[in-house]
Amino acid sequence: MTERQKTAVVTGASSGIGAATVQVLCAAGYHVILAARRRERLEKIAREYGGMPLELDVTSSASVAAFAAQIDIPVDVLVNNAGGALGKESLVEFDEEHWLQMYQSNVLGLARVTRALWPRLQQSPAATVINIGSVAGEETYAGGAGYTACKHAVRAISETMRLEWLGQPIRVTEIDPGLVETEFSLVRFAGDAKAAKAVYEGMAPLVAEDIAEAIRWVVSLPEHVNIDRLVIKPRDQARVDKVARR
Ligand code: NAP
Repeated sequence: MTERQKTAVVTGASSGIGAATVQVLCAAGYHVILAARRRERLEKIAREYGGMPLELDVTSSASVAAFAAQIDIPVDVLVNNAGGALGKESLVEFDEEHWLQMYQSNVLGLARVTRALWPRLQQSPAATVINIGSVAGEETYAGGAGYTACKHAVRAISETMRLEWLGQPIRVTEIDPGLVETEFSLVRFAGDAKAAKAVYEGMAPLVAEDIAEAIRWVVSLPEHVNIDRLVIKPRDQARVDKVARR
């Protein structure tokens, strides 16, 4: 009997950590569904590594429903990666639109996609949900209240998943990266390349492939092994805002 090909859904697959995850999971033999808003980017990545691109805006319930309706096979791995930070204003100057958007993508989006794919996750004999949190989910920094609050919420949601799904064949892993050089800072600073570059100046940040490799490892473990949480930082970073620069 030939083994069934496993399916992995990766949100935020059009860039950075998501795109690198598509590459490693395709190489590991998964049928990968690539999801994000920028369809052309997804198509390019799928041409390079494989997989099926599907448009998805996690901030829209209608988009999530339309996305999930196109998936009629068991989902063995769900990587809730779509998200990011917007702005770095102090608390008393916070931008409501930024905060709403961050909650919509990092928090509600993660919950929406998981809820929509729940029937498909249950069809897998052994599923894994990986939530991409951040070191901002366990620490705070000045100017980061909106984003850190969102990633603290990812921690709460990941733990709740483990409680609510206890006894079912489904694992939950939270991966919390430190500084990873992707388009994250470019998005955060609204396309200001100089400000984005300064975040990684004089230090050796992680690259997206470092996080993808952790995801590959987590899903490759025997079914009974659940990695609850991985905190992965560059050697040059001791805390969220404590970085060695040369
Ligand atoms: P990135 O290069 O900016 O990628 C972000 C991805 O999220 C893109 O593919 C983007 O795709 C997608 N996305 C954003 N909003 C979305 C929405 N509404 N619907 C669907 N997809 C959406 O940044 P990254 O570093 O790879 O970030 C990936 C995850 O890692 C995020 O959750 C981020 O918070 C987390 N993280 C990053 C770092 C870091 O230092 N880079 C550290 C800790 C945690 P579209 O724009 O095409 O929709």
